[in-house]
Amino acid sequence: MNWNFQNSYTELPDIYYSNVTPEDYANPKLLLFNNDLANELNLNFSNNEAEICNYLLGKNIKSNKFFSQAYAGHQFGNFTILGDGRAIFLGEHVNNKKRFDIQLKGSGKTPYSRNGDGKATLGSMIREYLVSEAMHYLNIPTTRALAVIITGEKVLRDRFEPGAILVRVAKSHIRVGTFQFGSLLKKRNEFDSLIEYTINRLYPELTNEINKYLHLFEKICKLQINLIINWMRVGFIHGVMNTDNMSLSGETIDYGPCAYLDQYNPKKVFSSIDKIGRYSFENQPKIALWNLARFAETILHLIDSNEKKAVKIVEEILLNYKKYFDLNWNLMMSKKLHLDFNNENENIIKEFLDLMHIYKLDYTNTFLELENNSLDKNIFEKWICKYNKLKFKKNTKINPNIIPRNHIIEKIIKDSYSNNYDLLYEFEKVIKQPYSNNDNKFKIPPSDSEKVYQTFCGT
Ligand code: AMP
Ligand code: MG
Repeated sequence: MNWNFQNSYTELPDIYYSNVTPEDYANPKLLLFNNDLANELNLNFSNNEAEICNYLLGKNIKSNKFFSQAYAGHQFGNFTILGDGRAIFLGEHVNNKKRFDIQLKGSGKTPYSRNGDGKATLGSMIREYLVSEAMHYLNIPTTRALAVIITGEKVLRDRFEPGAILVRVAKSHIRVGTFQFGSLLKKRNEFDSLIEYTINRLYPELTNEINKYLHLFEKICKLQINLIINWMRVGFIHGVMNTDNMSLSGETIDYGPCAYLDQYNPKKVFSSIDKIGRYSFENQPKIALWNLARFAETILHLIDSNEKKAVKIVEEILLNYKKYFDLNWNLMMSKKLHLDFNNENENIIKEFLDLMHIYKLDYTNTFLELENNSLDKNIFEKWICKYNKLKFKKNTKINPNIIPRNHIIEKIIKDSYSNNYDLLYEFEKVIKQPYSNNDNKFKIPPSDSEKVYQTFCGT
């Protein structure tokens, strides 16, 4: 089938979205098309590139109304009214009773563009395609990438760059920031329709629960903390954990200044605008809880009519999720070290990470060296003695061989800008087997000259 759009979001009060039309591009070029995902969505487009582009850009859709979402958010702690400044929904594609948002990112201005041009650079869309797909194959919830289309237009950043559109697929794009926007309006009916919509769409099993709003909050907390633990398992730094970039579906969303750790450093920050390390590797769980508190603020009145009581309930839940994180982080790390779980594992885990930090070792590869018995004896001798006295439990598929390292992504982007896509197409296949592919070319950490020190937003 082709698209099976059945939009539900536009049944919400119209303050939550605006109808928009994607810009027309004379000669769009299909750079990346995710056949596996297209099959999962039961999409059978023809093999004709121009026709696929037409479908992906919504040209063949007559009756559908495209729209962009309104939202707000705390960006680096400051509250702002935002909205899809460069994203347009083609619609909600329904397949096998599952609903997927199909969104074009970088397709042109919307009423929420503020001072932006509504466009995206080819480099940043290639990055999102590869990193989000890698995330999926690392078994971590994420939005997916169906395609990257080169628009043929140049977009101005520090210099002119080729423009591109990413076709993004998500369970939903409702964010903490959507609720912040809804609660800002102070109109009870309009807020209630958003929360009921969210429960019906994402967590229908909660519909008949007695305090379903509290259950929703706990569910979101659990999904987010699990997500952060998964990010930390593979060394991922999101880089811009603003409340508008936290999805209620529990999927990783928005691959802007994100990056994976090479050398282990818990304080590592890549984003050029994150001067104080707010979104550093080790700060991610704290920030997730901070964002969750912002979400809770919007639904306090539904948790208990007595505000003080509601705050107390929320605080207790957040405290429990702090404990939940500590316990499950320990569990995840024990698995990475193939240790039988025990609360006391914390010491051996910390010592392992400290050695990695002090000796500037590669996060991904050091876990693999442990598995291969090839840890540097000079560094780990004492640690290995302690480790060998513990109980083991072999876990498979926990430590990836291959992550999308920054220097590889940068090289792919640089090559692409000279119309050389060989490495891009090679790596697109490699990321599908992060636990079994052993290609050294993608396992070697960057040399000093290849290291990426900073990543940039506003892409
Ligand atoms: P992000 O950091 O990608 O979450 O973006 C933050 C906000 O800025 C979102 O509301 C985006 O839609 C908007 N934005 C980012 N880049 C652009 C752009 N080039 N033009 C218009 N809006 C943008
Ligand atoms: Mg965003």
